Amino acid sequence: MADRHTKLLIIGSGPAGYTAAVYGARAMLEPILVEGLQPGGQLTITTDVENWPGETAIMGPDLMAKMRAQAEHVGTEIMSDIVSSIDLSCRPFVAVTDSGLVIEADTVVIATGASARWLGLDSETRLRGRGVSACATCDGFFFRGKHVAVVGGGNTAVEEALFLTNFASKVTLIHRRDALRADKTNQARLFANPKIEMVWNAVVTDVTGEDGVSGIVLADTLTGATRPLAVDGLFVAIGHDPATSLFKGQVDMDDEGYILTAPDSTATSVTGVFAAGDVKDKLYRQAVTAAGMGCMAALEAERLLAHAGHGAVQQGGVRAAA
Ligand code: FAD
Ligand code: NAP
Repeated sequence: MADRHTKLLIIGSGPAGYTAAVYGARAMLEPILVEGLQPGGQLTITTDVENWPGETAIMGPDLMAKMRAQAEHVGTEIMSDIVSSIDLSCRPFVAVTDSGLVIEADTVVIATGASARWLGLDSETRLRGRGVSACATCDGFFFRGKHVAVVGGGNTAVEEALFLTNFASKVTLIHRRDALRADKTNQARLFANPKIEMVWNAVVTDVTGEDGVSGIVLADTLTGATRPLAVDGLFVAIGHDPATSLFKGQVDMDDEGYILTAPDSTATSVTGVFAAGDVKDKLYRQAVTAAGMGCMAALEAERLLAHAGHGAVQQGGVRAAA
């Protein structure tokens, strides 16, 4: 027996979730949004955001507080809870929260985001947002004329390094082996760029600096020898993990766990379930793209429900409201 029923359940309170909430509420779907463990999402752990349209610069937590207020203002019910399990096999879908609440939903927007993998160093955690970053698109601008290091050997690391050359005077790419995982085209671009220097067979064992990064300590993976390297910033690009364990086996995902959606759509493999933001996007990973997908997801949910006369939705089509 469900405690609550909603036409639209939104899981996650990042830019994707709040935008889905704004559009869903304005479409009279009376959405319930469950915030999760990180209310406001990833932007709450950063400082200045300079690429959100309409804001020359805004602190990440302030931007997310504004998004939350707007979602509430238009009628979203925001729950400070976590979805701990969900059954997407029959409609209405049934979610159970950490506090034991059972929520039935005609449609679901999954906006649970993703998180960057970190090296796991105390100094890295201490200096995160003060010179240590996992997003060159977000923070590269702050390193004009500076020397930065990038860690990783995949496509992300190479693309981050290349992007950073637009601002930095020098980029040192540090990889733990002697061959990159990145594809050959990216490698060719990397090796042709005079601003980029490679450090092979090395890992970062410490980040130095008090209020900002002044350097890193490198350990050679072959000899164990350590040496300092003076840099002004460190970009960690060793992969991301989408928050999709709840949905494993229930919606189609790629082999890294990102939710797959139909082309030009947020529709997942389950009718009535939509995915928006970093949970389905490993390419752009931006607040504005996440918000755009949140908008799409709510509009798609609204259209599906309108088709069913705002009744319950079933797999492969719609059934009349009870
Ligand atoms: P997220 O922001 O990741 O939010 C996911 C939400 O899902 C969270 O609220 C979480 O609590 C919730 N959740 C997860 N599991 C559950 C569950 N089981 N139940 C309920 N809720 C759940 N982008 C920019 O455009 N500009 C920037 O300047 C910028 N700077 C950044 C700086 C940093 C340090 C980081 C980490 C990222 C930055 N980004 C920036 C990227 C941007 O933050 C993300 O692209 C964006 O937040 C993705 O939004 P999202 O809504 O998809 O997910
Ligand atoms: P990835 O391919 O998994 O690469 C991660 C890199 O980080 C690897 O080189 C790995 O080293 C290194 N690494 C992992 N843990 C580390 C640690 N603790 N310390 C130091 N180094 C560590 O991740 P990604 O680059 O984020 O790419 C994810 C997926 O998206 C890939 O499929 C990628 O091809 C794709 N992608 C594609 C494009 C594109 O096509 N343009 C762009 C970006 C991403 P090892 O190599 O030694 O394992």
